[in-house]
Amino acid sequence: MASQRSEIASHVERLGLKGDLESLEDDGWSGASKRRPAFNRLKKMVDAGEVSAVVVRSQDRLGRNLRDFLNFAEDARDQGVFVYSVFPQLESETAAGWQTMKMQGLISDAELSQISARQVFSQKERRKQGRSIGPPLYGFAVEHRSDGAFRVIKESEAKFVREAAQIVVDGGSILAAAKTINGKGSRTRRGGLWISSNLGDLLRNPGIAGMRHHRGELTMDSAGAPIIDKHLQILTVAQWRKVQAALEKRKAARTKVEGTVTEQLLLRGIAKCAGCGSNMNRDSYPNRFGTRVPIYRCPKGLEVGCPAPSGMAAHLLDDFVIAYFEPVFDQPVIARVEHDNAETVAERERLAMQIDTISEKLRTADRDQIVTLSEQLMKARDAADSLNVETVTEYVEMTGTNGEFIEEHPRQFLSTWVDQVLVTKGSRHEPIADRIEIILKPIEEHPWADVFRVKA
Ligand SMILES: [Zn+2]
Repeated sequence: MASQRSEIASHVERLGLKGDLESLEDDGWSGASKRRPAFNRLKKMVDAGEVSAVVVRSQDRLGRNLRDFLNFAEDARDQGVFVYSVFPQLESETAAGWQTMKMQGLISDAELSQISARQVFSQKERRKQGRSIGPPLYGFAVEHRSDGAFRVIKESEAKFVREAAQIVVDGGSILAAAKTINGKGSRTRRGGLWISSNLGDLLRNPGIAGMRHHRGELTMDSAGAPIIDKHLQILTVAQWRKVQAALEKRKAARTKVEGTVTEQLLLRGIAKCAGCGSNMNRDSYPNRFGTRVPIYRCPKGLEVGCPAPSGMAAHLLDDFVIAYFEPVFDQPVIARVEHDNAETVAERERLAMQIDTISEKLRTADRDQIVTLSEQLMKARDAADSLNVETVTEYVEMTGTNGEFIEEHPRQFLSTWVDQVLVTKGSRHEPIADRIEIILKPIEEHPWADVFRVKA
């Protein structure tokens, strides 16, 4: 590219290097590509003693990564050929310069800063060529300045994004948020009305919190933290996470019932034969009116090795298990929500920003700042590496009572709280309470612990 060639030429002039300048380029460079004909040719030229100095625009323009680059620079140095990079300004000629160059190789984040420098560069190129950089997300606009096109927050739209987010965080539905902002005159990018689906997509888009993403995946730095553009944050990352948590809660609350008693047994996968521990199957028997009535039955039976195969009419077992929850029928529905520990998430994001900032500084740093910055970067990276984000289980109160919820979504309710229901073989005249054992999922933490501990 002509722009790179002129950058290199002026650097050659600054360095006062003498001789003919030959420009080598690998077309269609990509990090994954191993075919680098120009790089291979350069190595041969150095080996053959045809080159007195190598000037590169940035380190990642040689080799597939910094390691490759340093190996090349070291081999060249052994033959008295020094390497100079324009961006950042480095050289392998002096002992101190070579140390600094190697130091950079030790720090993988320096690699990251080179990669982002390359991305910025190629975006500039694309803009120069008049190519589109994609339509901006709602809430953003592209601003054309003399030095190129830049994505910025469009405040007249961003305020609606914030308002919709707040409604959802406060417990409102996406549809309620959509209606509110529609009422205030907000329209989608295409001029349409907001509905659950398009507003949901927007609120889930990490771009509104300035997080870089590609094809649905967050762009992470080498420490595994998301890369964040602070000037493109309509919401802070913490606010965005609150929105996601609120959306998850709503989703959890309206997950569909998987089946009903008539077609599939309510306690499918939960009811087990106490004799052999197998999941009980659906069977049926004719009642005294001749209608077939569903029944839970041990799938093995005596012949296949169950010492005490059990069976029980479906309505009896289902009713008994549902009645077990009577003490909490009047209490509000509790949803179990799992999320990352907020403190460690915040710490990880803080470190990511720090790493980002240092990497950015490193990209344009003077030679005497590089060592200090590199050390800071290593420390921040170590801290990020040693950070463990733990999952926290939280119980959240929903609207409506358990009684209402069980009526509407019995399967979902039971599979949330019941680990298994053991059914023991017995006669029809035995009280069924003596034949059924309900084992709840671990309840140490959840709000009903007291209710059921008393019962047990
Ligand atoms: Zn059995």
